[in-house]
Amino acid sequence: LVSRKKQKEDTIISLGDVNIGGGKPIMVAGPCAVENVDQVRAVAASLKQAGITVMRGGAFKPRTSPYDFQGLGIEGLKILKDAADEFGLKTISEIVDPGHIEMACEYIDVIQIGARNMQNFELLKAAGDVRKPVLLKRGIAATIEEFLHAAEYILSRGNTQVMLIERGIRTYEKATRNTLDISAVPILKQECHLPVLVDVTHSTGRKDIFAPCAKAALAAGADGIMVEVHPEPAIALSDAAQQLNFEEFNRFLSNVKESGLLG
Ligand code: PEP
Ligand code: MN
Repeated sequence: LVSRKKQKEDTIISLGDVNIGGGKPIMVAGPCAVENVDQVRAVAASLKQAGITVMRGGAFKPRTSPYDFQGLGIEGLKILKDAADEFGLKTISEIVDPGHIEMACEYIDVIQIGARNMQNFELLKAAGDVRKPVLLKRGIAATIEEFLHAAEYILSRGNTQVMLIERGIRTYEKATRNTLDISAVPILKQECHLPVLVDVTHSTGRKDIFAPCAKAALAAGADGIMVEVHPEPAIALSDAAQQLNFEEFNRFLSNVKESGLLG
């Protein structure tokens, strides 16, 4: 079902008046994690001012260490929704439990399935059973074929509103957090009809190269870029080293826009 052979036209994900895929690429931004009301409102206000229409923010955080901040859970989804409603933004947030998928539909516009859960088949099936757009992240060590099979799980249950996002894969290279596989973008665009985004934050983990990597992704045909933004990254409860503050984000955005590739 995901194959270009099956469907020639690009799938377009429609979030109200925001379209993803098949047209001008979009910029998705927001904090790694929802931490509190003030933090999310500050991000939402800043994104709104910058012309951003879709905000991300994790409420269920799959952390490597059990002692790290795990997110605010459902309360976090409510905080995200309230801020998004106030500023007229659409939202994306990760869900990790199949039992939370239906509940999440009330609070968010796009269900994110994280890299660690790309092959959590019960979660994929649950996401396939609802009629809500899904943003599926590439697994930490997933091949492109495995990535497409994971998407197929969702489509095969009837939910055709799926977007893919390359977020870097694990290699021997230590200069970046993961290795951004730019080649995955044109390959995925050729092989399937789903929108393809690139997460510059989790792939590179390096603010100093977000802009060139975002431009490379757009030049390779990406339908969108995702980046993490926090009012005060130094005190962020997760990914402190790789979130942009508002000034850095605005500079990043205008840098990427100079390419003429962003909508
Ligand atoms: C995220 O986007 O919040 C996240 C945890 O990323 P990933 O699943 O790609 O590690
Ligand atoms: Mn993060």
